Amino acid sequence: MENVIIVGTGCAGLTGAIYAARANLSPLVLEGRQPGGQLSTTTAVENYPGFPEGVDGPELIMRMHEQAEKFGARFEYGTVEEFEHAGMHSRLKVDGEWRETKALIIASGASPRYLGIDREKELIGHGLTSCATCDGAFYRNVPVCVVGGGDSACEEAIFLTRFASKVYLIHRRRALRASKIMADRMLANPKIQPIWDTVITEYLTDASGEVRGVKLKNTISGSNGELDVKCVFVAIGHEPNTAPFRSKLEMDENGYLIQRNGTHTNLPGVFAAGDVADHVYRQAVTAAGEGCAAAMDAERWLAEQE
Ligand code: NAP
Repeated sequence: MENVIIVGTGCAGLTGAIYAARANLSPLVLEGRQPGGQLSTTTAVENYPGFPEGVDGPELIMRMHEQAEKFGARFEYGTVEEFEHAGMHSRLKVDGEWRETKALIIASGASPRYLGIDREKELIGHGLTSCATCDGAFYRNVPVCVVGGGDSACEEAIFLTRFASKVYLIHRRRALRASKIMADRMLANPKIQPIWDTVITEYLTDASGEVRGVKLKNTISGSNGELDVKCVFVAIGHEPNTAPFRSKLEMDENGYLIQRNGTHTNLPGVFAAGDVADHVYRQAVTAAGEGCAAAMDAERWLAEQE
């Protein structure tokens, strides 16, 4: 029986691990499919307090990991498949094996969303991706496109200009959702060409099954067109990673966990922190803050049980 299991090693999970470890709870931290969470696939983080010169996402995560380990957090690789709650305890099936814990902090984050058009799953890794940091360097001196109008899309488009000959930014509206500073930076880049009021309707592939272009539709005029690109970078937001908790924990209509009274969920001893419960702020610093809060809530709850 563990005192605390923390699911996830993004900003929320790792900050929770630092606080729980410093409270002598010896937390077990489960690294899921994407250790380090979304920051592990980000380039420069310019808005995390304390780093006026910016910091690389993976470096920030690595330092948090180190800090948690230093205070006694234990890390294991494993993906949560099922969740049960009985009495005052939680049980998690992790890679086929059941683990039991008094307190559980769910900080499993959110995963990139795709467009939901034909053949999408099979094309991931063949000219379709959601991670410019991971795959950008494979597309040197060729045209590519980014889909979306938020900060991620702008950031990815700017990053991709290091490699690609041309970067198209395809957005379904004319107004960007991105922050002004990011939007201005993207719009000022001569290698980026925005394509407004447009959606992708089909991926076009070559004989070896790699993306060679996309079919486009103008959302205002309804006119169709084609664009030659070697890779499509989808940056249209995220889905919360809450599948194992469905029907057991309260969620909103989009599957985000609902917190009440701080980071408590509807079940005793189960806490939620970071992007798994936050579709509004979704920042590294807010996730870290929630990780801290969840560890403190868990610590207090455990003390009350004793
Ligand atoms: P987001 O802000 O939710 O933006 C998603 C974008 O994708 C929107 O422009 C949306 O269009 C578009 N979209 C959604 N579904 C679509 C679909 N099915 N087809 C076509 N387009 C679709 O997501 P995000 O850019 O990933 O940012 C998430 C959060 O992280 C934000 O709070 C952002 O500020 C933050 N962030 C910060 C930084 C930074 O500061 N360095 C970097 C990245 C992200 P509509 O606008 O029409 O809804």
